Amino acid sequence: MDAPVPDVGVTDIEAWRARAHAYAEEFVRPAAEAIDRDDALPDSIVHGLRGPGFFGLGVPASWGGSGGDTRTVAAVLEELSAASAAVGVLLSVHLSVCTHPILLHGTDAQRERLVRPLASGRALGAFALTEPGVGSDAAHISTRYSRTPSGFLLNGSKMFITNGARADVVLAFATRDAAAGAHGVSAFVVEKGTRGVGTAQKLEKLGLRGSETNELVFQDALVPEENLLGPEGEGLKLALSALTAGRVGIAACALGVARSAFDALQAAAVAEPTDGRRSAVAGAFTTLSAARALVEKAAAEKDAGRPYVEAASVAKLFASRAAVEIASTAVDVAGPAGVRRGAAPERLLRDARVFPIVEGTTEIQQLILGRTLVGR
Ligand SMILES: Cc1cc2nc3c(=O)[nH]c(=O)nc-3n(C[C@H](O)[C@H](O)[C@H](O)COP(=O)(O)OP(=O)(O)OC[C@H]3O[C@@H](n4cnc5c(N)ncnc54)[C@H](O)[C@@H]3O)c2cc1C
Repeated sequence: MDAPVPDVGVTDIEAWRARAHAYAEEFVRPAAEAIDRDDALPDSIVHGLRGPGFFGLGVPASWGGSGGDTRTVAAVLEELSAASAAVGVLLSVHLSVCTHPILLHGTDAQRERLVRPLASGRALGAFALTEPGVGSDAAHISTRYSRTPSGFLLNGSKMFITNGARADVVLAFATRDAAAGAHGVSAFVVEKGTRGVGTAQKLEKLGLRGSETNELVFQDALVPEENLLGPEGEGLKLALSALTAGRVGIAACALGVARSAFDALQAAAVAEPTDGRRSAVAGAFTTLSAARALVEKAAAEKDAGRPYVEAASVAKLFASRAAVEIASTAVDVAGPAGVRRGAAPERLLRDARVFPIVEGTTEIQQLILGRTLVGR
């Protein structure tokens, strides 16, 4: 399966959207059912994302990227996720919580060595914060690091890591002292082949099947000094800011799933119109339009350089709920055909159900919003 030939110079958002749509319709949508059934993403589809330059979105050409702002990234993620959420999520994680934080917080030497291969897609990125016992409360991670003359030694394990086994570059977080809380956490770039890094298990999931989720284990993993990202002790701040950006990406992925669910719902209603179905389509259309507006607003706020924590939380919270709600209505309207294993509404509902959990649960978005709107 050949990837489309790159057309250098496409900077306009709608041109990027069209490019992503073309790739998704030709290569991804025909494979979506098999990706879900086999819980595996073919290498040809992942490697095919290189040609159009998707791995380098949001990275300036001076660092080997494709350029494009957050709205561009969101448009591409929506298009890919509308065809297969697994593909959208692989790219969202690679960009928003691995490549972009290294670009933002790295030294020029780190950008040269790490961002270039990530932006070209020769390397795939992952983000490893969650642990078997710690998710939302990230200040209390227990993966430890210690300094040695030859670098940092990491010990502990990370859970639910998207792209974990496939990734060449993992942005991982560890604490020098669990009792130090937020100030003990530092960020490290762990490269494939690092001694002492293992993949303990691949996790089977309800939805987003094909998007690999792994447990990673660090046993005296030796990370060189030059792979510390940002100042020591500032890792939690870095992780939280990456997650804020990541939420815009995940919201865009959820929007793509919501849109596909809406298409399935509308097609079923058009095939057999009733007043109840017309009303269901009208309600879903309203929800989808609101989700789109919120994703675009969050992306636009970020692009304008304005504070966007609230907008990102609102977009993530609403778009992930919208995907679940619209996919559930699509199942209702499709009737028995909609719940058959592999039918589009059934698959979309399972995919949608994961979005309220990843990159900050709905309750955590409510907590963030409550604190900013009401105060601590
Ligand atoms: C498919 C998938 C992919 C993922 N990919 C990654 C990845 O690439 N990298 C990574 O680091 N992590 C990843 N995660 C982990 C994800 O970010 C965490 O699952 C999520 O942050 C929640 O953490 P937890 O599972 O430990 O749940 P917990 O934090 O234990 O929460 C359990 C429940 O309690 C609620 N809760 C927790 N604290 C509060 C509170 N203070 N107030 C109110 N309610 C609260 C939560 O909302 C949730 O409902 C992934 C998860 C999934 C399912």
